[in-house]
Formats: sequence, structure tokens, C-alpha cells
Amino acid sequence: MSKCHTCGCLPGFFGPLVEFQEKKYCSKCAEKAMLPKCYTCGSVPGFLGGPLVEFQSKEYCRKCAEGAIDEASSVVMVTTTHNFDGYRVQRYIEIESVEIVIGTGIFSEITGEFSDFFGSRSSAFEKKLTRAKEVAFKKLKYQAFMKGGNAVIGIDMDYTEFSGNRIGLIVNGTIVELEKCSQNTRGK
Ligand SMILES: [Zn+2]
Ligand SMILES: [Zn+2]
Repeated sequence: MSKCHTCGCLPGFFGPLVEFQEKKYCSKCAEKAMLPKCYTCGSVPGFLGGPLVEFQSKEYCRKCAEGAIDEASSVVMVTTTHNFDGYRVQRYIEIESVEIVIGTGIFSEITGEFSDFFGSRSSAFEKKLTRAKEVAFKKLKYQAFMKGGNAVIGIDMDYTEFSGNRIGLIVNGTIVELEKCSQNTRGK
């Protein structure tokens, strides 16, 4: 006799079983089963905050979407130069610019107080800067991935000072589609 896939109850207790994605559920569990869920962790929207994000025709919660995007875009190669050994540019897609604003005031959370980022608290600022660079490169890779590129070349980094103890990190580069050279004449 068929039972509810989730709770194992028999039909009749919560009404007849409902079929969904080749599994049978009681009316109580069917409602839950049919809710859109995160593809990775199975959480329903609202639990980890915010609606589900669609990425590559799968739905993710915010937390898992980041991971899925990271994983997919990790294939994108980045360089400050204009070429990769053994590859040639097949297509130039576009120039992409990513801006990350770093609020130096946030140091207070880390160090208890913030005096001067060129002074004794500089290591905290450096950490933040490193993190900002990571985020900028991730964004750049993500943009490249979404636009059909597999590399970002000629990457250039710049800083701008804003009022109110804020620093802007600007990273730009050219999104390209690289093709592996079939015959590499070099290094033989
Ligand atoms: Zn059930
Ligand atoms: Zn999730």
C-alpha cells in the first residue's frame, strides 16, 4: 500500500495521497514538497532570507547561490597581462569594471577602535583590502562567465578616495573568449 513519501502516513488520515515528481504525499506534506526549494541545501525561501535566486535554470537560496556562482565562474582565468601561454583570444567580449567600496570605519568592529589605517591598525585595513580584491575578482569572473567569456585579461586595479573614510577599489579588465592553441610551437 502506498504511503506518504515524507511522513509515511497512510491515505485517509490527511486525505488522499497526491502525486508529485513521481512520489506520493499526503495533503499536508504535498504542500511542503511543492514549495520551491534551494537546489543545494533544500531550504525554502524566507529561511535564510530573501527569495530564491535562479542560476543556470536551477534555484538557490542566497547562500548557496554564491557557492554555485563561485564554482561555475572559477573556470574563468584572470591575468594582468594581455595573453595566456598556449591560448589565443578568439573573441573580445567587453571591458568590465567592478567597484568595491571599503568603509574604513568598519574596523571598529574588528579592532575595537580605529585610529589611522597607515598607523597601527594598518594590518586590519590590509586584510580588508585583500578581501575587497577577492570580492572584486570574483565579481569580474562572474561577469565574464555570464557574458560567455572564459578569461579576463589586462586587469588593472585602481583606488579612489571618497569622503567619510571610504576607499573605492576599482578593478577593470577585458572579458575575452580564449581558445587553446592546438599547436604550441613554443617550449619544444
Ligand atoms: Zn505526509
Ligand atoms: Zn541553499
